[in-house]
Amino acid sequence: RYRYPELNDQIEKVIASLKINDEQLKHIMRTLEEEMNTGLSPTTHKQSSVKMFPSYVRHIPDGTEVGQVLALDLGGTNFRILSIKLRGNSKIDLTSKIFVVPQSVMIGDGRHLFRHLVECLSDFMKKEALLHTGICYPLGFTFSFPCKQESLSSARLTAWTKGFSCSGVVNEDVVKLLQDAINEKGINVKCAALVNDTVGTLMACAYREPSTAIGLILGTGTNACYIENLDNVGTWNGDYNEPKQVIINMEWGAFGDNGCLNHIRTKYDEEVDLSSINPGKQTFEKMISGMYMGEIVRLIILDLLQQELLFLGHRDTYGDYKTPLYNRGGFYTKFVSTVETDEGIKFSNTRRVLEDIGIRNPTFDDCVIVQHICRQVSTRAARLAGAGLAVLINRMKKSNITIGVDGSLYRYHPRFKRNMERCMENLVHKDLKFKWALSDDGSGKGAALVACVAEQNS
Ligand code: ADP
Repeated sequence: RYRYPELNDQIEKVIASLKINDEQLKHIMRTLEEEMNTGLSPTTHKQSSVKMFPSYVRHIPDGTEVGQVLALDLGGTNFRILSIKLRGNSKIDLTSKIFVVPQSVMIGDGRHLFRHLVECLSDFMKKEALLHTGICYPLGFTFSFPCKQESLSSARLTAWTKGFSCSGVVNEDVVKLLQDAINEKGINVKCAALVNDTVGTLMACAYREPSTAIGLILGTGTNACYIENLDNVGTWNGDYNEPKQVIINMEWGAFGDNGCLNHIRTKYDEEVDLSSINPGKQTFEKMISGMYMGEIVRLIILDLLQQELLFLGHRDTYGDYKTPLYNRGGFYTKFVSTVETDEGIKFSNTRRVLEDIGIRNPTFDDCVIVQHICRQVSTRAARLAGAGLAVLINRMKKSNITIGVDGSLYRYHPRFKRNMERCMENLVHKDLKFKWALSDDGSGKGAALVACVAEQNS
């Protein structure tokens, strides 16, 4: 494959540790299913690496829902407010606005944070002519921080992440804090549901495609949720009315945190983990998601470079390279997508990426090898995610379900979906067919739908 075929063996040796064959994937699938059952049982729940949180969302929309709903989506320094009109024919009218959370609010008093959110909500509603209309609008709250949910409309924050550290919020019910601020302002809104982003994605897709039974996130992180029979949810503490099902937020990014995936982890995975802000946590996520993929590629490139198998013609007179490859985060995940867009032998995108990181005039072999590394890393990620999905489809035993997906990795990587599909052909029972739906505005729209369905069924 290379101009210098003797490179082949040495490179392959480095990359061999990334290969996971179908038999290994089937073993991983059995382990995941065991972990899921452990997570769903009240006596063993705490031992499982997948937390299997019941979302309290029971009703799946079918596109006939109608109503005016609001959503508030807080997951970082920006937050979004959405006004959503469900028209009842699987169609939605949506307006939204992005607001900023000032640094001082992110680290200030929790009451200020919620007052700030409500001030913005009130301004938005005024512009949309929704204020003081005599109607109390249901609001869905997407709150992308770790929470222990206690009902559809109560959830305690476990810990702040992503630079937030407002006082007086950890261990408190964030829905109550939001509703208190709403009541204080005196606006016509009721926070009816708190929704995780995977669940939001499933719900948003279900409105257009009622066969949606799985929600999947492939972005900064990765996570999945699916519809589970109540009979299988030993940890369930709600009622057993129809429908006898609940969406389970798996938190599958943490799969393997108890060591059950150690046999497939490479030295690159270990290095990524050790230099992360949460060592030992999110093992599955670190082999799959956008936050880490570029970093794994970078470490492999660096390893080859140090073994003098790559970029030989590019050292300066001191034998050094001037390239961000030496620094953490020096190879972006979006570069992986760009490199893999090249087909054939011109490598125009790969050359552009390499020039971007200071490797001028890369050789043909340099390009071949870098593309090969990117493919190996992204294919491994897609196969692991695909194996996880196969467990869910086989477990639900329903044909023609739809997988609702959101996230930049799925959206922009040129082969991720195809590679998941390809491995799933060998892992999903032959008689079970499935399809994909890309969700846009998933989390906010989904939260609004949950709020709407909850109000209609209350
Ligand atoms: P979030 O998951 O935070 O809501 P996104 O779905 O946009 O946001 O995911 C962001 C992640 O996607 C980042 O880790 C980034 O590296 C990755 N990403 C951005 N662009 C691309 C791309 N073109 N190809 C692959 N991954 C990408």
